[in-house]
Amino acid sequence: MNNEIINNNKILEILSKTFNPDRARLKEILHKAKAKKGLSLEETACLININDKELENEMFEIAARIKDEIYGERLVFFAPLYVSDHCVNDCEYCNFHIRNKTILRAKLSSEKIQEQVEFLINAGHKRVLLEFGEDPLNNPIDYIIDTINKIYSVQTEKGNIRRINVNIAATTKENYFRLKQAKIGTYQLFQETYHFPTYKKLHIGPKADYLRQLYAHNNAFESGLDDLGLGVLFGLYDWRFEVLAIMSHAEYMNKKYGIGPHTISVPRFQTGQTIKYEPEYKVSDENFLKLIAILRISVPYTGIIISTRENSEIRSTAFKIGVSQASAGSVASPGGYGKKSSQPQFEIHDKRSLRQIIETVLDDKLLPSFCTACYRLGRTGEAFMAISKHGDIHNFCRPNGILTFAEYLEDFADDKLDDKLYKKGSEVITFYLNKIENESMRNKTKERLARIKHGERDLYF
Ligand code: SF4
Ligand code: SF4
Repeated sequence: MNNEIINNNKILEILSKTFNPDRARLKEILHKAKAKKGLSLEETACLININDKELENEMFEIAARIKDEIYGERLVFFAPLYVSDHCVNDCEYCNFHIRNKTILRAKLSSEKIQEQVEFLINAGHKRVLLEFGEDPLNNPIDYIIDTINKIYSVQTEKGNIRRINVNIAATTKENYFRLKQAKIGTYQLFQETYHFPTYKKLHIGPKADYLRQLYAHNNAFESGLDDLGLGVLFGLYDWRFEVLAIMSHAEYMNKKYGIGPHTISVPRFQTGQTIKYEPEYKVSDENFLKLIAILRISVPYTGIIISTRENSEIRSTAFKIGVSQASAGSVASPGGYGKKSSQPQFEIHDKRSLRQIIETVLDDKLLPSFCTACYRLGRTGEAFMAISKHGDIHNFCRPNGILTFAEYLEDFADDKLDDKLYKKGSEVITFYLNKIENESMRNKTKERLARIKHGERDLYF
């Protein structure tokens, strides 16, 4: 497939030309990377083909430095909420494929949504990512919009969901406009694989239309959605090709609309109960971490999202070298929170609760964050990128991370005097509070922390 977004031949040509990059060229690219201005396709391809252990280590160090300088210590958590697994497609790699006749399909009723959302709020979540299979009869846009409205209306004594990101099949501009009106955060849609022949091989159903998938972000953007998420399912095709293809897509969005993707997700294939598919291009742990580091360097201002498909060790390393958002305490089936879920979409490898994950993250001196400030203050799309590219977003992320985590501690760390989590968390808060350079911002954050201790909630900059 050669078109304005993905030029298959060009990607292959760049990968082959850079197959054995010389040391001097790699050094030059790594030097450029430090400026945090991103890299071209050719430069990214050289890093993909890096062949020198010492330089590879340096690349990881630079990725970690960029992560730290742009995103700081904060790590934003969310939970997926599977609303319906009805699906008319037959994707080889997904347990919800239509050929799965053993699954008892489910779509959540309003009462079930209430119950599932209460579960998530009471676990500490403030952000959800909605997941629906593609099924115009069972999951029409009215149902999707009603679900969003319902979720925003749920309130427990522990709070509410403040941001809903949505992952639904490519749809019409009218439907995207309705998502915008329903006040969603990011619209995420993954190409799964940018490699056209592989895409054709793995899909049957409306999703088999490669161009419908590829141009969905254009339609979403032109309908007013300006926080858009890209991604591929790593393992379907050569990860080197996919990384350059994501970059091409990001470059295209930048050129056409002046805004790159808000996030890039990096799911890696995991099996499921009725999945017979064996990935031909399995991505090793080593290459998986490498591709995260490369994305961090090449598109420094785009958030990277990792899911619980990955185990805790991989996630821990990924948090340091590039990932800025992570799902936590997830289940991957509709109605699965608080229940034993029989047929999830895929196998989950990080099965820890949100609280357990927070404990380890604190040991790594990262700051758990539930921040939703930007989209609520209209810092989306161009406005967000303008702040972000000047490196200023960090000035908001740190105070907001501190405030939202302080809320979490107040509401979820059980016995405030003895609780280890409360103590450990408070130490991390104090540590980063003292690192807020701007004195006025530091003082305002202190003042808001005091208000949170006195019971106020949802304070942000
Ligand atoms: Fe349906 Fe999505 Fe699964 Fe494909 S990946 S079968 S579209 S739920
Ligand atoms: Fe995300 Fe904006 Fe909050 Fe930073 S301030 S964590 S970019 S929502």
